[in-house]
Amino acid sequence: MKNVSDVIVIGGGPCGSFTAANLARLGADVTVFEEHAEIGVPSHCAGHLSVEGLKHLGLYPLPADVVENTFHGAVFHSPMNKEFSVRFESPITCTVNRVLFDKHLARMAENDGARYCLNSQVESLIIKEGSVKGAIVRQDRKNEEYLAKIVIDAEGIPSKVLRQAGGSTLNRQMVVNGVHAEVENVRDIESDMVEVFLGNDYAPGFYAWLIPKRDGKAKIGLAAKTGNPKKLLQRLMTKHPAASKKLSNARILQTAFHPITLGGPIPKPYSSGFLVVGDAASQVKPTTGGGVVFGMTCTKTAAEVAFESLRRNDFSTEFLSAYQRRCEDVLGFDVKIMLRIRRMLNAMSDSKIDSAIDFCARHGVDNALQKVRDIDFQGKSLLRVLRNPRMLPVLFYFSYLYLSANL
Ligand SMILES: Cc1cc2nc3c(=O)[nH]c(=O)nc-3n(C[C@H](O)[C@H](O)[C@H](O)COP(=O)(O)OP(=O)(O)OC[C@H]3O[C@@H](n4cnc5c(N)ncnc54)[C@H](O)[C@@H]3O)c2cc1C
Repeated sequence: MKNVSDVIVIGGGPCGSFTAANLARLGADVTVFEEHAEIGVPSHCAGHLSVEGLKHLGLYPLPADVVENTFHGAVFHSPMNKEFSVRFESPITCTVNRVLFDKHLARMAENDGARYCLNSQVESLIIKEGSVKGAIVRQDRKNEEYLAKIVIDAEGIPSKVLRQAGGSTLNRQMVVNGVHAEVENVRDIESDMVEVFLGNDYAPGFYAWLIPKRDGKAKIGLAAKTGNPKKLLQRLMTKHPAASKKLSNARILQTAFHPITLGGPIPKPYSSGFLVVGDAASQVKPTTGGGVVFGMTCTKTAAEVAFESLRRNDFSTEFLSAYQRRCEDVLGFDVKIMLRIRRMLNAMSDSKIDSAIDFCARHGVDNALQKVRDIDFQGKSLLRVLRNPRMLPVLFYFSYLYLSANL
């Protein structure tokens, strides 16, 4: 194993592997270090992804064994049992098996020439004269030095090396604690609709989900700003007026716990010889917590900027800062809108959530949403919806909610 590469990627999750694939395809010599023995394991994620987002990334259709189910829409349940649903003619989202999805991306990267080192935990960065020059990697109970012109941090959260490189760190105030589970014996669900449950007693500061699988089982989960996610999940399954009807007899087969970062991308995901991608850079939608498509959209830009810097032999902070500017150009507006929506949702009482769901059901919001195929770039999608004059009452109503949330 040679100890010098153009680029080191820390972490073989979707964002690490997609960065590696894009860079290797451009011709860079890339080494990926993954701390676990197997790519994708353990998994903590529901793997609910937008079809349009995957198409933008050139990843759709995915191999059949990776896709667990496809969905035509979603049903939103208020804490007091009001319901609003939106159904599209063709599938708008899908769920992937995250273990197989991560392996698929790693295989793509390997086919393009990237090298993978498993059981290889990056302990720290090698920094010389203020510039990142490589990483110290724990392998076979020994520390090895690996050198590179650029190191890309794709560790997810929490990131170990971010602080050492001088990049900005996460907004801790905006991190929620998630639980993801697989269940059997679920009742009364439509196999092609995702269900979302709202309510401060069940998922304070976020929401809960129920996602049917084709094999009769389902993925459920929630995230919360406060409280114990495991206990909140039990409460959801037994007490939420809509969820309990579907889940009171359900048996949990497995659970995983992990944080979700909702504060929007960190302001400085770069320093000399160093870039940050994915969850480590908080490239996650503040509304839904979806980070796979969103993060991978940024990794494409990271790979392009890193490759340009290799060509020019310029790994300076100034040159690599182009990464942040380009991501901001593509996603900045959407992030701003999503952060505002998240703050508004967080400030809403259960009775306000109830009346908002009721309002959407009574005012044809489902029809207006038919034009939206893109659920990743939510700022631009929202503008498209609001251009419909029939959405004027909805605009007024939500402006009122926004203002009364005291923002
Ligand atoms: C409960 C829950 C449900 C979710 N559901 C969805 C969903 O439905 N849709 C969606 O889009 N997003 C979802 N997310 C978010 C999604 O999981 C993340 O945004 C996504 O996994 C980020 O990918 P990543 O590659 O940045 O990080 P990760 O997937 O976390 O991958 C990081 C990798 O780096 C490795 N690593 C870490 N540190 C080191 C180190 N020092 N050395 C070597 N290797 C290291 C890890 O082992 C891991 O393999 C969910 C998150 C949670 C918690």
